[in-house]
Amino acid sequence: MNRYIFAGQDIIVPAAGPSFDDASGAWAAAAEAATGSREYEAGCGRCVAVMLDEGGAEAAMLGALSEVEGLRRIPLRQALSEYPAEAIKGALRGAALLRWLETARYCGACGAPLADKDAGSEDYGARSCAACGRAYFPRISPAVIVLIRKGPRALLAHNARFKSGFFGLIAGFVEAGETLEEAAAREALEEAGIVIENLRYAKSQPWPFPDSLMVAFTADWASGEARPDGVEIGELRWCLPSELPEIPPRGSVARYLLDEFAKEG
Ligand SMILES: [Zn+2]
Repeated sequence: MNRYIFAGQDIIVPAAGPSFDDASGAWAAAAEAATGSREYEAGCGRCVAVMLDEGGAEAAMLGALSEVEGLRRIPLRQALSEYPAEAIKGALRGAALLRWLETARYCGACGAPLADKDAGSEDYGARSCAACGRAYFPRISPAVIVLIRKGPRALLAHNARFKSGFFGLIAGFVEAGETLEEAAAREALEEAGIVIENLRYAKSQPWPFPDSLMVAFTADWASGEARPDGVEIGELRWCLPSELPEIPPRGSVARYLLDEFAKEG
């Protein structure tokens, strides 16, 4: 069993992290203080994730968990860059489920409280409304991210809202009724004024901030002069692999696409 402890946007990890592998007294005490918990199956096996509120996290760090060797509380995004994808997989699923549970408390149609579906039922994992029968599944919001090529160069974008100086890639949420391909083309045009072609799937990644699924592509520039939209994108650069600016930390698909691109340099 993999055991994960979250506190807001953070994950609490032992030295060997990210999961507490044994059902120690420290884990049991921390789990007891949880405001939410979920058991689930992930690629790495059976998991349980618990959420502590700020007071609970502070008490657990000073109390039961203080005995655990090398204990740290770190942002989940940082954990993504520290642990291999396989090791953090169960935590990503746990974070997504716990965040969903925080908002899946009442039926959106009739307002009655929702309850978990029984184990063994067809919709197990969903929450259902006893009053009107509707079932609610964990929400997943797909987003596309595209590395756009123009000969040996790739288009890097500095998000106007980023406080730090790093450059990422053209990205955005898929809109209702839209295909992934259409979303990628629209974002390239809206954010950078560029028409793309030869869209090629690269990989995907769950991104529980709070509930995204990032679908990553590469594409070729077809036409258009790169110009930032000035709202989301503050600056655009066509970069050679050897001249990449500061890029997102490891653990994100943006970084994966850029690392693959940098290997060409
Ligand atoms: Zn209802």
